[in-house]
Amino acid sequence: MKKRITVLGSTGSIGTQALQVAQRLGCRITVLTAHSDVKTIESQIRQFNPALAVLYDEQAAQDLKTRVRDLPVKVLSGLEGMCEAAAADTDLVLNSIVGFAGLKPTMAAIQAGHDIALANKETLVAGGSVVMREVARCGVRLLPIDSEHSAIFQCLQGAPPARAVKRLILTASGGPFFGKNSVELENVTPEDALRHPNWSMGAKITIDSATMMNKGLELIEARWLFDVDPENIDIIIHRESVIHSLVEYDDNSMIAQLGVPDMQIPMQYAITWPARVQSNAKSLDLAKIKNLSFYQPDCETFICIDACRRAIERGGLAPAAVNAANEVAVELFLNRKIGFLDIGRLVCKALDYRLPDEADSLEQILQTDKAVREQTIAAAREIMR
Ligand code: NAD
Ligand code: MG
Repeated sequence: MKKRITVLGSTGSIGTQALQVAQRLGCRITVLTAHSDVKTIESQIRQFNPALAVLYDEQAAQDLKTRVRDLPVKVLSGLEGMCEAAAADTDLVLNSIVGFAGLKPTMAAIQAGHDIALANKETLVAGGSVVMREVARCGVRLLPIDSEHSAIFQCLQGAPPARAVKRLILTASGGPFFGKNSVELENVTPEDALRHPNWSMGAKITIDSATMMNKGLELIEARWLFDVDPENIDIIIHRESVIHSLVEYDDNSMIAQLGVPDMQIPMQYAITWPARVQSNAKSLDLAKIKNLSFYQPDCETFICIDACRRAIERGGLAPAAVNAANEVAVELFLNRKIGFLDIGRLVCKALDYRLPDEADSLEQILQTDKAVREQTIAAAREIMR
């Protein structure tokens, strides 16, 4: 039987690639959702014939309804519609929404008993223990799409039952500003920051890669996905993005996953796991690459890395706080309201806000996210003055 797939965030960088991968694998697309891109989702509906399509934006959803009235597709809107889409009957929910907005739909999918292929890392960063508790309670699988986490997941296949994992090593390209210091970064523009050397991605994650917040978020994501203490998760700069991450076992053997930097591979693995099938990604030509390089990350310049490390070590709602501050700061930077280095300053500041010690409910996470956003906007106003 054809696997049925729901794609949340279908109009984005991951979403559009995921649809191509799913189609090539012979899957049926049952549900599509996006924020407000009517044109793109309309053409996706015409191509894939889903039973349900949801746009978060009310107005855009109305427009979509009119445009596709010749088709047997139900159109919904709002967060309620997103959660209905996530819970709708399917075999796998692929979540490629960007940001905290993906958390509630992820929870709805888990509670409906669906396995999830997760690109939306902010879900695990903000939701951590609450999401994982629900995953265990509902007996569903979380399959990583993030390339580093897919690599680790692949390196853990065949691990002994006791796992014997000593540490995880996340590789990082270093982004467009590798080797630069704070003085050189003070005046970089959104255009500079949006030029990533190895990957073509959505705007938010591209800025996160430039500040290296992305690696901090991935550290937190790895802690939850693989149940490894953050002190046993290291980060190493690897400019070529050929090794996508590694696992070191207790005997000091390291297992790595290598491949061309192409998200099709991790996406496909999340869909076909535990099977491996042919992919459209290029084969890696090691002789052509010749050398692989590694460096320690510069945590003094890229202060978001340590902010995330401190947040996950502290636990509770601290990760949700740094995530919320970052989302606000990235938006402000893209709108040229604050400077590049202000992003890190605002993220670090989020650790000073008073936060509950334990994260024990979704409601509490939503409240914290809202409160930190407000405090970050207030702090940014001071900077903008
Ligand atoms: P993107 O901006 O290209 O796409 C985001 C998608 O989410 C769009 O379809 C958009 O319509 C939808 N969306 C945005 N806000 C929404 C809201 N409030 N409600 C509902 N839908 C909303 O982003 P992307 O680069 O595809 O990244 C998606 C996620 O995958 C992010 O969490 C990112 O960190 C992660 N990720 C991306 C890549 C990559 O190569 N792009 C790699 C690893 C992980
Ligand atoms: Mg990644």
